[in-house]
Amino acid sequence: MIDFSRLPSAAEKNISVRVKGAAERALRRGHPWVFEDAILRQSHLGNAGDLAVIYDREKNNFLAVGLYDPLSPIRIKVLQALEPLRIDRAFFAEKLKAAQAKREALIGEGTTGYRLVYGESDGFPALIIDRYGETLALKLYTSAWLPHLQALLGAMEDAIVFESLVLRLSRALQSDRLNIAKLYGLHDGQQLIGDGADKPVQFVENGLLFQADVRKGHKTGFFFDQRDSRQKARELAQGRRVLDVFSYTGGFSVYALAGGARTITALDVSEPALETLSLNVEKNGFDPKLIDVMAGDAFASLMELIQARRKFNMVIVDPPAFANSRASMRNAVMAYRRLVEMALRLLANDGILVMASCSSRINAEMFFQLVERSALVAGFKLEVIEKTGHGLDHPVGFPEAAYLKALFARVTK
Ligand code: SAH
Repeated sequence: MIDFSRLPSAAEKNISVRVKGAAERALRRGHPWVFEDAILRQSHLGNAGDLAVIYDREKNNFLAVGLYDPLSPIRIKVLQALEPLRIDRAFFAEKLKAAQAKREALIGEGTTGYRLVYGESDGFPALIIDRYGETLALKLYTSAWLPHLQALLGAMEDAIVFESLVLRLSRALQSDRLNIAKLYGLHDGQQLIGDGADKPVQFVENGLLFQADVRKGHKTGFFFDQRDSRQKARELAQGRRVLDVFSYTGGFSVYALAGGARTITALDVSEPALETLSLNVEKNGFDPKLIDVMAGDAFASLMELIQARRKFNMVIVDPPAFANSRASMRNAVMAYRRLVEMALRLLANDGILVMASCSSRINAEMFFQLVERSALVAGFKLEVIEKTGHGLDHPVGFPEAAYLKALFARVTK
């Protein structure tokens, strides 16, 4: 449980801000970020989570209101633009209702686990909420939310149905420098409402059963973003020997088995993830003998498989984000090239390559080109079956929200 009296509160007096022309135009177009260097003047220095109100320079009209974030280059994270509204529990409740309504179609498809709030694109900058049935995971990426946490939790109780809520904190928020745990009594994996999060949560995705560890798992425990790609892999898996690289807890593996895959080889560096993968396979009634797991570095394991002259009819490669900074772009491109090349060497003729990327700095066009060129250089022909992107629970409300893409292709020599 949580002691709200320990949390900071936002200052009574809002910070009033003037920004450069380009930033004004971006705000009018609905862009949710104001960078530090776009600010011309501000009434006073504020604390994380104070409300910053931006007025246009010519007529002094309201342009937007957002969370002031002095520790981030994205200095103001917009909550509301163009029409002034009070930022309170009712305001957040309206946004939550809209977010939930957008996802209703998923429930009809037999899906109880999905992203309920995808940051800015659902009106909640630097914040996500994932739903695992009746358990929600709230992940914060900035301390600017802390003064609004009580209003937000109240809004969640007003607007959406759930039983249990777990708090997840981004790596930056867990850093000792901020010392959030000590100051405010909050920590990553903390149960804020209800109970039961110490046990794995169960949920359904496209009719398939999964479990996840919302307290300690990657992100909030599962990668909901790949749901549509997993469904596509299921449609193509019939009779194939499948290699699932960066398998995590077996999202793609379980779908491939459901689609009639002959065998699965799953690679991941995380042993707990592979243990959950085996449980997820069994939970859906598939014979555990059909799967073979390899714990270790994917690059090394792929090399081993190549040296052992193993062949597969479908290779799925869904690596973690490689390029989070500009400096790591080159390394990321090299890593993708190497993965494509190794995956192709492991494919039998007429096999299917599924190559995904969640690196936001490498856009979809660049990525697809990179994969197609790498294949060409390695002497393979790709016949593109499909290119997938964001599912409906990861709406792309502004360009920077797009990060996910995957290429499905038939491969011949
Ligand atoms: N395909 C998964 C999600 C993959 S997330 C799904 O559908 O659910 C990326 C995974 O890569 C994580 O499980 C992480 O443990 C793993 N990983 C990161 N670096 C790795 C490496 N060098 N070798 C193998 N696995 C790695």
